[in-house]
Amino acid sequence: MNTDSKIAEIYDNIVARNAGEPEFHQAIDELFDSLKLVLRKDPHYGENKLIERLFEPERQIIFRVPWTDDNNEVRVNRGFRVQFNSVLGPYKGGIRFHPSVNLSIVKFLALEQVFKNSLTGLPIGGGKGGADFDPKGKSNMEIMRFCQSFMMELHRHIGEYRDVPAGDIGVGAREIGYLFGQYRRLNHRHESGVITGKALNWGGAQVRTEATGYGVVYFTEQMMKAQGESLDGARIAISGSGNVAIYAMEKAQELGATVVGFSDSSGYVSCPDGVDLELLKDVKEVRRGRVSDYAKDATGATFHEDGLIWDLDYDIAMPCATQNEIDADVAQLIADKGVRYLAEGANMPSTLEAIDVYRDAGIIFGPAKAANAGGVATSALEMQQNASRDSWSFEYTEKRLQGIMTSIFKRCEDAAAEYGVEKDYLTGANIAGFKKVADAMCAQGVI
Ligand code: GLU
Repeated sequence: MNTDSKIAEIYDNIVARNAGEPEFHQAIDELFDSLKLVLRKDPHYGENKLIERLFEPERQIIFRVPWTDDNNEVRVNRGFRVQFNSVLGPYKGGIRFHPSVNLSIVKFLALEQVFKNSLTGLPIGGGKGGADFDPKGKSNMEIMRFCQSFMMELHRHIGEYRDVPAGDIGVGAREIGYLFGQYRRLNHRHESGVITGKALNWGGAQVRTEATGYGVVYFTEQMMKAQGESLDGARIAISGSGNVAIYAMEKAQELGATVVGFSDSSGYVSCPDGVDLELLKDVKEVRRGRVSDYAKDATGATFHEDGLIWDLDYDIAMPCATQNEIDADVAQLIADKGVRYLAEGANMPSTLEAIDVYRDAGIIFGPAKAANAGGVATSALEMQQNASRDSWSFEYTEKRLQGIMTSIFKRCEDAAAEYGVEKDYLTGANIAGFKKVADAMCAQGVI
C-alpha cells in the first residue's frame, strides 16, 4: 500500500472511532494535511501504529457537576477533562466554562494543545477540560459553588506532576481562585504548581494575564519582520474582547499600531482612532459588561449590532473570539480588504475552507497553535517559579515570553522551509509540533 492510501485509511479509522465529533475531526483534518508530508519523507513515523496512538487520548474523564443556585434550585452540568498526551510533561491546558462545551470541543482543544505545547519547547504535555456551564448572569457565590463542585471530582485527576489546568473562555482569575482553594482543602496541601493563572499574591506569575494576547502580537511581529515590515502604523481589527483580545490590543498599540475595532457576541465596536484600554479593562474585567457599554462611555467609538467586525478597514486581522468564527465567506471578506497578515488568538477560529481562502489570497497566516502559544508558555514559566519557590519580575518574564515566541516562529519557519512550503506557518507548526511528540513517543516504547 502506498503512503497516501495508508494515511487515508488511518484517517478514516480515526474519524470512524470518534463519530459525531465535528470539531475534533476538523482539528485532525488540519493536522493530517501536514502529516502527509512527514510520512512521505520519513515513513518510520507510520510504524508501530504511532499515528493511531497519537490521536487516541491517553484518558478522557466525564463527570457530573451538581450545584445549587441562589434560589436554592439544584442544577446539574457536565464536566470534562481530556488528558491527551503526557509524553513531554504533565498534561497542561485550560478549562473552559461555556454552554457550547461538549466532548468534541474539549477533544479538539486538547489535541491542539498537545501540538501547541510541544512547539513551545517547554516540558508540558497536552490536555483540556471544561463544563457546559454558562457563567453569564451568575452571582459570585454561584460561580464559587460551581467551581467547588467541579473541583470535587477534578481533584483526583490533577496534580503538579500529573495534570495542570489553567483558564480558558469563562475561566479567569476569579474562577482559578475558587478552583485552587477547593483543591487545597481537598488535598490538605498547598501545591502551588497544580494550577496556573493564579493571582500574583498567592503563587501567580507576572505576565500570565497578558501572555496570550502579547504573544499573538509578538508572533505577528516576527511574521512581518520576515517580510521586512513592522507593526508601526498598521491598522488592526481584533474579534472578541476577552483576555486574549484585550492584551493583544494593549501590545499592538504599544508597538505603534492602531486597533480599529473589537467585538463580542452581541456586536462590534468601531474605534478608528484606537482603543482606550483603561476603559475597556474597566468595562470587561471590573464591571463584567458588554462592548456596547464601552461604546457608551468612550469618545470616538460606535457600537454596531448588525454586520461584522471584519466590515471595518484594516491591514491585519486577529480573530481572538472562539472556534469557527471565520468561514469561507468571512475569509473572503477579509481577503477583499487587502489584508496581508492574519494571526489567530482564539483556538481554531478559522474553518478549513477559510484557511484555503487565506492561502489563495496570499495572506500570511499565523495559526493558533503557534500564534497563541504565549499563554500556555507563560503558564509553564509559572510552574517553573512555583517549583523553585521563586517569583520573577515583569520585565524578565516578558523577555522570556518574547524569546519563546521568537523560537516558536523559528521552529515553524524552519520546518516549513525543510518541507518545501516556505512561509506556510501552519504546515510548519504542525510538522515541528508533531516531530517532537512523535520522537518522544518512539523513544518511550509502545505507550
Ligand atoms: N487556555 C489557554 C490555551 O488555549 C492556556 C492554557 C494554559 O495556560 O494551560 O492555550
